[in-house]
Amino acid sequence: MSLSCGCHFIPPHVIEEMAKNGHDGAQASLEISRAHRLRRDERTVNLVRQLHPDGQPLAAAAGATGTAQRKVYDCGHGTALHVPTRLVRSEGGAVVVDPIVNQVYDFAGNTRDYLKTLGRNSIDNNGMDLVLNVHYGTNFMNAFWDGDEMVFGDGDNQVFTSFGKSADVVAHELFHGVTQFTANLVYKGQPGALNEHFSDVFGSVVQQIIKKQNAGNADWLIGDEIMGPTLRGEALRSMKYPGTAYDNNLMGKDPQPAHMDQYYAGPNDNYGVHINSGIMNRVFYLVAMDIGTTAAAGIWFETLGKLWSTAKFNDAVAVLVRVARNQVAQGKVPLGSPQSVRAALKSVGLPR
Ligand SMILES: [Zn+2]
Repeated sequence: MSLSCGCHFIPPHVIEEMAKNGHDGAQASLEISRAHRLRRDERTVNLVRQLHPDGQPLAAAAGATGTAQRKVYDCGHGTALHVPTRLVRSEGGAVVVDPIVNQVYDFAGNTRDYLKTLGRNSIDNNGMDLVLNVHYGTNFMNAFWDGDEMVFGDGDNQVFTSFGKSADVVAHELFHGVTQFTANLVYKGQPGALNEHFSDVFGSVVQQIIKKQNAGNADWLIGDEIMGPTLRGEALRSMKYPGTAYDNNLMGKDPQPAHMDQYYAGPNDNYGVHINSGIMNRVFYLVAMDIGTTAAAGIWFETLGKLWSTAKFNDAVAVLVRVARNQVAQGKVPLGSPQSVRAALKSVGLPR
């Protein structure tokens, strides 16, 4: 079960680099993340046992359709989930004093509303409630989707500020949930890099909608809003120029390749899930610049629904082109979209 989506926003190689360079909080955050992963794996095993009492998958859970309610919980700096924490704002509730609660509530709402425009009813297409946990741990430097809830740390306020401050972080984590309920891409190697890629794509798309931007004036940076005063101006990833998001003494240098010739084949980062995603991110950026973010996102979203758990880059290439062609035939995207997708893929060395 170790391949289940740990889905932490800050990749382990970044936090490890920070710990190595003497950042105290980085080590503590790593340990909390590791402990959490263990608990999650245990819980996943239990869940699978429940669902498969005789080794056979049950028919699609016959749960009642939910109403996609937002529920923001304050962890009060604790690290226990699935225990009664304090519900601080629920759907339709008034704005509260704590700004992070309101921001996470708003960004989750923006993401849910965007999913609706794609014809999807919340994360699971069945109206699943959006459970959002804030103030997780003390100075915890990460955010993650744990399989059914979203969790946001406060950062150390030096290197990273509160993770709930960024729309692309919130939408990124929420889309790990969408991926889990659609392609369910294994969180390792190329399927894992695709999993990360789709979260970056829709994190960026939702942010462009909120900021009323388009492909031409968006920054195409992921996680720039959560950089604290020490590293203000840096970001976690650049979809436009993968490999250029950061370069400093604390985090090291952004390892993302922008072309298959620089593909990372080593074992770090679950065999490069946050590293090789840069190659596909660049493809999306190029297509969005050509046919617009909305049209590109429509092609990518339908593709996500047609992929499978072990899909690799070449599989995604085939499905993207097929979907682009179908969407042209349906009048959903501009003529020339399949050619735009092929040209972008070719420029990063795909298929290979
Ligand atoms: Zn992620």
